Amino acid sequence: MFRYACDRFPALVPVGAAGLDDLAFLDHERARRWYGRPVERSHWFSSTGTSGYPKPIAWTAEEDAWYVGEKQELFAPWLDGCGRAFISLAIGHNASTARQVMENLGLETDDAGLSALEDQCAAILAVAPEVLYCSPSILANLIAALERLGQRPTSVRRIITNGEVLYPSARARAQRFFGIGQADLMDTYGSTEIGTIAHSCGSCGRFHLLGGLYPEAAPAAVASSEAQVGGALDAVVLAVSSVKRTSFPVIRFVTYDVVRGLRRSLCGGAQRFTFNQILGRCDDVLNYGELFSTYDLGDLIGSRLPGTRWLVFNPDNDLTIVIEGTEPDGFREELRRRFPLHSRMSDLGLLDPPRLQFVGDFDAFAARAGLPTPRRGKAASGVRRLAPQPWWFEEPAR
Ligand SMILES: [Zn+2]
Repeated sequence: MFRYACDRFPALVPVGAAGLDDLAFLDHERARRWYGRPVERSHWFSSTGTSGYPKPIAWTAEEDAWYVGEKQELFAPWLDGCGRAFISLAIGHNASTARQVMENLGLETDDAGLSALEDQCAAILAVAPEVLYCSPSILANLIAALERLGQRPTSVRRIITNGEVLYPSARARAQRFFGIGQADLMDTYGSTEIGTIAHSCGSCGRFHLLGGLYPEAAPAAVASSEAQVGGALDAVVLAVSSVKRTSFPVIRFVTYDVVRGLRRSLCGGAQRFTFNQILGRCDDVLNYGELFSTYDLGDLIGSRLPGTRWLVFNPDNDLTIVIEGTEPDGFREELRRRFPLHSRMSDLGLLDPPRLQFVGDFDAFAARAGLPTPRRGKAASGVRRLAPQPWWFEEPAR
């Protein structure tokens, strides 16, 4: 890995460095200058997930080839005997290659793209796919919509998820609804910067990291998981190095994802890097299908209500924004314009629109919620994984 860094990204290797441990972790700040660099024969994707504001990130044709190839290899034995796939991943790097992966595996593929939720339900009922390949948010909304229709497709035998964190409750609901086992739902985890990072394993129940990746725990001074996801004993912020990416340096790259139980373990006769669970993200970053950045949100709130305090609650991929003060005219429209793709997907029923709450007495609200109040004027406010309770918003009668 160290040799790879020296050959490919010498700018990251300080004079006198003798091994990977001598290289600095690539956090938000240090990674910034590597975004948007001209790369020959590449195409661009936008990432907010690990980088704050959305930034362009290049993938070359060669990189796409290994990205698609390793997904095919991963899915091939597991999808053996399946004939039809239904994809609903909206847009992004993963969405753009999913059809190719399925078709290369010989599956007849229906890619819903950005179509309305009811049309997607109708397509699932008409096509009767054996495979669903969806983001967790869209999958949850598809299940809710099918349930409302009183329909429970019996064709589905395998589900692949990719995008946001698939929380245990969402996994259980999908397995129950489609009548499939734990090994029939593969959660894949990756990022636009890195590609596929890991997948859930039906045999050991842990996540396997893909080959060519070297995971480490980012030191607490670089990224801490404490505030956002609590202090689980074996939780660490994942940093990844990769010998596969050539146009972007995945060298001790900090993902800001918090995982539990990172270690080497034996599964299927091979030693590999594994972890138990992805708990969520930390460091003021919302990864809502890479569509919603708290940095943009902070800009918007700051422009309309300078100095005001605010909090974002993002449990189970739901989004509630709580802002101090009175709602300015036209604020909801501005919020929609600021996140056009998120708004479009909400209109299509694929995502739930963000809930917006203004509170007069912010200190009292924070006290009822049991949270420290964020400081005024901070660019991005803390993202909390808690589900806001209705009584937090009940202002006491005067
Ligand atoms: Zn395993």
